[in-house]
Amino acid sequence: MEPSPLELPADTIRRIAAELRCSPTDVQVALRLDEEDKLRHFREYFYIPKKQDLPPIDLSLVNKDENAIYFLGNSLGLQPKMVKTYLEEELDKWAKIGAYGHEVGKRPWITGDESITGLMIDIVGANEKEIVLMNGLTVNLHLLLLSFFKPTPKRYKILLEAKAFPSDHGEETLRMEDILDVIEKEGDSIAVILFSGVHFYTGQLFNIPAITKAGQAKGCFVGFDLAHAAGNVELHLHDWGVDFACWCSYKYLNSGAGGLAGAFVHEKHAHTIKPALVGWFGHELNTRFKMDNKLQLIPGATGFRISNPPILLVCSLHASLEIFKQATMQALRRKSVLLTGYLEYLIKNYHNKDKAESKKPVVNIITPPHIEERGCQLTLTFSAPMKYVFQELEKRGVVCDKREPNGIRVAPVPLYNSFHDVYKFVSLLISVLDSTETNN
Ligand SMILES: *Cc1c(COP(=O)(O)O)cnc(C)c1O
Repeated sequence: MEPSPLELPADTIRRIAAELRCSPTDVQVALRLDEEDKLRHFREYFYIPKKQDLPPIDLSLVNKDENAIYFLGNSLGLQPKMVKTYLEEELDKWAKIGAYGHEVGKRPWITGDESITGLMIDIVGANEKEIVLMNGLTVNLHLLLLSFFKPTPKRYKILLEAKAFPSDHGEETLRMEDILDVIEKEGDSIAVILFSGVHFYTGQLFNIPAITKAGQAKGCFVGFDLAHAAGNVELHLHDWGVDFACWCSYKYLNSGAGGLAGAFVHEKHAHTIKPALVGWFGHELNTRFKMDNKLQLIPGATGFRISNPPILLVCSLHASLEIFKQATMQALRRKSVLLTGYLEYLIKNYHNKDKAESKKPVVNIITPPHIEERGCQLTLTFSAPMKYVFQELEKRGVVCDKREPNGIRVAPVPLYNSFHDVYKFVSLLISVLDSTETNN
């Protein structure tokens, strides 16, 4: 039976378990969820690392040729199989025709970035003219702030989420009411509000439209760092009226380390907000090569380009964005909610049993429990030493990461992770935690 879009993950899991007449924590539930997953074939479009090839692996603990459990797509997405093909296309072109490659082929180099910009529009919810693919994320953040942060004696602050809020109620995540409160109180002196879409450590998804609306009502520009949001959650930057945003493409967007980053400038600013640093690729194409030193700036985001596009980085991003186009963000998000909900369900189940047997280490999920307040990542903390838990998981072929102070971030990615991956991860986690107890 098809799950209704309104069914909560825990209800889906219990319903399937009832249909199969098994416990919700049995492996059959994972296998059935995979069978019913209409996106499961997208896994075949990626190289999934083998456990035996991973540097920290303990070969005595894993089977030969077993796939790694790769839950690190929030940090570096896996490689789409088509990357190599697309790179070879441009390398061949370069070998065969040299500089003529600027003008011809599937991705003429002069407009290489523009040849794939259209594939990004649905991922961030913007018009093609509002997006530019260039540089790295931090570079783009600097370029955007140079244009949007124009301090005056009265309005000179930048509001950031990190450490900007009282954390004395012992919560790891931020309350929307506290955020809106600060904007209400301080808004008149704030020039720019710069938030992340999804917080890199806690996995908290902020209410982007509400923060935007509150900030703009106070006369602030509102921008977002979408490093952990792009390709993870649904975004509607244009409709939400966000002023500016930037993101990288090597995390959920699978473009490879150092991949081509994105920037967004809302079309309402196309003729008013200008780049502070100008380069020849921000100049209109039809007169760019006249070199007459009269700047004809392209309006909007594209005018922020400085240099000619790095075609080899375009290739790897192209391969990944084509997969997103086929899968659609809407369907990916739907699967993601269930996949992460399943992970949460299995962890909580262990945790519940745990309370009775007080000797077992406790697992806490610090990521918000509400679907609309998180993406695919869960951040786990432990009463056992986190470093030990992490090392033992690594030895068994789980790829995730540890982050200070004491969190392990796990991100099941709907494009290439399966429900069976989640099941296997939790089984390994439980066996590691059980061994912690016996070691003590
Ligand atoms: C990943 C990440 C970055 C990385 O910046 P680069 O310029 O791509 O090195 C920056 N900010 C946040 C919040 C990130 O998560």
